[in-house]
Amino acid sequence: MDPKEAHDRVFSLMEKHHSWFDSSLPMIASENVTSPAVRRALMSDFGHRYAEGWVGERVYAGTKYIDEVESLAMNLMKELFRVKYVDVRPISGVVANLSVYTAFTQPGDVMMALPITKGGHISMGPLTGSKGQFIGGTAGAVRGLKVKYLAFDDENMNIDVDKSIRRMEKEKPKLVMLGGSVILFPQPVREIVEAARSLGTLVNYDAAHVAGLIAGGKFQDPIREGVDSMTMSTHKTFFGPQHGAVVTDNEEHFEKIKRANFPGLLSNHHLNAVAALAVASTEMLAFGRKYAEDVIRNAKALAQALHDQGLNVPCEHLGFTESHQVLLDVHEIGGYKAEKLLERANIVVNRNLLPWDIKRGRSFKDPGGIRVGVSELTRLGMGPDEMEEVAKFYRRVLLDGEEPEKVAKDVAKLRERFKVVKYAFEEGPAYGH
Ligand SMILES: *Cc1c(COP(=O)(O)O)cnc(C)c1O
Repeated sequence: MDPKEAHDRVFSLMEKHHSWFDSSLPMIASENVTSPAVRRALMSDFGHRYAEGWVGERVYAGTKYIDEVESLAMNLMKELFRVKYVDVRPISGVVANLSVYTAFTQPGDVMMALPITKGGHISMGPLTGSKGQFIGGTAGAVRGLKVKYLAFDDENMNIDVDKSIRRMEKEKPKLVMLGGSVILFPQPVREIVEAARSLGTLVNYDAAHVAGLIAGGKFQDPIREGVDSMTMSTHKTFFGPQHGAVVTDNEEHFEKIKRANFPGLLSNHHLNAVAALAVASTEMLAFGRKYAEDVIRNAKALAQALHDQGLNVPCEHLGFTESHQVLLDVHEIGGYKAEKLLERANIVVNRNLLPWDIKRGRSFKDPGGIRVGVSELTRLGMGPDEMEEVAKFYRRVLLDGEEPEKVAKDVAKLRERFKVVKYAFEEGPAYGH
């Protein structure tokens, strides 16, 4: 391969990606877009450095400014989540979860979580499934935990509290993981925590998806509801760099989590991302309440509009959603085909298992649902009126059978008015660099 040709090819592919996303509707619920300021921090020299260990106890020189930035990041996160202790070193949500597994459990212990098919995340998954098939989830494959499942109420798309508590009493888990990747509604955290206390079980809330809504004060508040710790990704509804964090109010827990992260799981902890997280946290402090409110309002508006356009949106009896997510039941077309058709119309979503899919013989390859998120469109400044326009695009592609490429032209037209990242001190172009 000609090195210079390949070098230039990388940039031309990135440019193509940027211009594609600049005329698309990025609606993957786990994604967002960062401000130009956050992207500037990501490109800084911090990304070339090491700062192993804790601020003030580093095992490398050259970190005096890095230390100050990391302290700022921790203090800002403490303020956002109203907690005493924050570790901003986990380089992702999975690593944050792994730090909690390492701190709170031993290999062979029982952990309980929702199954992946009902909104749990692969990082909470077992090594093998009920028929012995390989799954390879982080909890089972990496920490050697025996994963048992909380019960789920398909009708209300939430944890079934009574059944889950009965299962907890039987399994006596060391740890329960709440939160999830499909999360439409606040979970019954207080009830689970209360049952856990009497069993000596610890509870972590995985806020990977909803951290930005929690920071904005518009979702549940798991720390106030009594969980022992909360893990998160910092790039889903929390519009920061791809990174992770753990927060807790318990000093003893925190000492264990710190040690799990270093020397356990991390050497370099991506200092450019820590700086970017500090910047994103300032934006979240200044604009987060309005942002979180707007995200949830848009999700509700989109769900209602999709329903009005004739699409099958579960949980009408609960107002469809209280988060940034909307689920679509597209079992007639199939999730795989729906995802591909929408992609051709420049609407980027992911296919997703619905809670009843496995029972109906479907698999993750062609599930019955589509998971949709509105965080990124909200950050681009779209509101409820645009959600109605977006719902019409879905109808044209999924119900009317219109040529997706034709719809893509109208998608690009809508995007022309929404090119700038909002909820930031410096508003600037969303894609490109
Ligand atoms: C996305 C997600 C994670 C993983 O986060 P990464 O930052 O991608 O490692 C963990 N838990 C849940 C519930 C998630 O949705």
